[in-house]
Amino acid sequence: MKRTFQDIWTALLMGLVLPGCVMNAAASLSRGAPPAEETVAVTETQAAKPERASGLSVCLRLPDGTSAQLDMDAYLVSVMLAEMPASFGSEALKAQAVAARTYTLKASVTGGKHADGSVCTDPGCCQGYLDQESYLKKGGTQEGIDRIRRAVDATSGYVLTYGGELIEATYFSCSGGRTEDAVAVWGTDFPYLRSVESPGEEQAAHDSDTLIFTQDQIREALGRDLEGPPQTWFGETLYTEGDGVASMVIGGEAYTGTWLRETLGLPSTAFTVEVRMEQIVFQTRGYGHRVGMSQYGADAMADKGWQYEQILSHYYPGTELVLWESFAVQ
Ligand SMILES: [Zn+2]
Repeated sequence: MKRTFQDIWTALLMGLVLPGCVMNAAASLSRGAPPAEETVAVTETQAAKPERASGLSVCLRLPDGTSAQLDMDAYLVSVMLAEMPASFGSEALKAQAVAARTYTLKASVTGGKHADGSVCTDPGCCQGYLDQESYLKKGGTQEGIDRIRRAVDATSGYVLTYGGELIEATYFSCSGGRTEDAVAVWGTDFPYLRSVESPGEEQAAHDSDTLIFTQDQIREALGRDLEGPPQTWFGETLYTEGDGVASMVIGGEAYTGTWLRETLGLPSTAFTVEVRMEQIVFQTRGYGHRVGMSQYGADAMADKGWQYEQILSHYYPGTELVLWESFAVQ
């Protein structure tokens, strides 16, 4: 049986959970192992499999500062309950499961953001996490949990690699039509995190947004006393491969799109700006950093009949889907 969140909570109460998790990864990749339909594909009509251990393990940092060792696939179910609507197409759910598994294992092997191989429950840092009980209390259904569990089970053990190494499997909500180059957002280039088309996201809540600022709000955000009418503030704008703002001149100074996004709280770096009735109006496209897999784009592809392997190949070009074997925790 997998350990559920309740099990972990019980273990915490009993003082059984390790104060910290040290993972010794005697890991190897089954290179070239094809994601053969007969081994990984599970149809929507098949009944949910009984819970079973994946053989992989995760060190989860809980909000109270303690850590817990979880079975990978049990953890991934809770990640997906937080990160992707259960109503999304089953192939999109499978793609998400592989991306989240890859992200988690990459953190385990390299140390990740917390340096010790653990992952936390903050979606702004590592990945979101919602245990099944909380999911149901928030209006989720058992059917949704079962759909997500099937996607996790169907892809159990499979991860994405590039050149034999686990990739940085970043993902986000929606792109607004095109994903972004990693180098444009983080300054580091990854050959598999390049801008690609991402059509069919119009149903996403944040495919486009309008944010209106007063002149004083812009002055305050920039920490400058901009002078003259606001129509004269905005100068040259340079764009990225992913149609994001690379830099925008405001009041004679150039600001990066990533800085403006963070400072102004914009949904993404893909934006235009205009002055209307003396107010500053930002029109944005997409939501999130827009690097890697678009969740709404993946769902649109699933609707069109794409398999999860194709979805992953589209958003992470040049990568391989392989089985991660012999991952041991000691
Ligand atoms: Zn974290």
